Amino acid sequence: MGGMALLKIARLGHPILLARARPVADPTAPEIRALAADMVETMREAPGIGLAAPQVHASLRLIVALPIGEREGAREASPLVFVNPELEPLEETVEEAFEGCLSIPELRGLVPRARRVGFRALDLEGRRLEGEATGLFARILQHEVDHLDGILFPMRMRDLRTLAFENELARQRAAAAVEEVR
Ligand code: ZN
Repeated sequence: MGGMALLKIARLGHPILLARARPVADPTAPEIRALAADMVETMREAPGIGLAAPQVHASLRLIVALPIGEREGAREASPLVFVNPELEPLEETVEEAFEGCLSIPELRGLVPRARRVGFRALDLEGRRLEGEATGLFARILQHEVDHLDGILFPMRMRDLRTLAFENELARQRAAAAVEEVR
């Protein structure tokens, strides 16, 4: 491949994270392929399970995501690239789970998301990608597509009191586990 690079991740406060990204005109353009490859590398290195182009200072409707929990676990999941993705909830069930974001390091919060979504996008060959996602993969897609509309996970939270540093959450969980054992 050659020429792959780690990209700098925009952090909370950078205006690009609040902007609406523009559609990719040509998904097969070499610079789009290069951007997607660099995003995959950057996501892996972080490490993360999804990344949206605005997070690497490219205001384009492009995301990469690991299809975790679909057929594969986190380790063996191969990253997928979605160009100009669109999502549609397929059922009314909403689940709350803790999310984090590479642009908001160390913080986690409880975020409600549709349990099952349909997705439509293009791949890097310009072919139509269509399918369904449930559970964690559905959550990842919703989180990343939100980035394309300038929405960050705290803006989706129902209760800001659940916003917490991840090491503090881990400490509370460990303490709760000890209580259970007693
Ligand atoms: Zn994020």
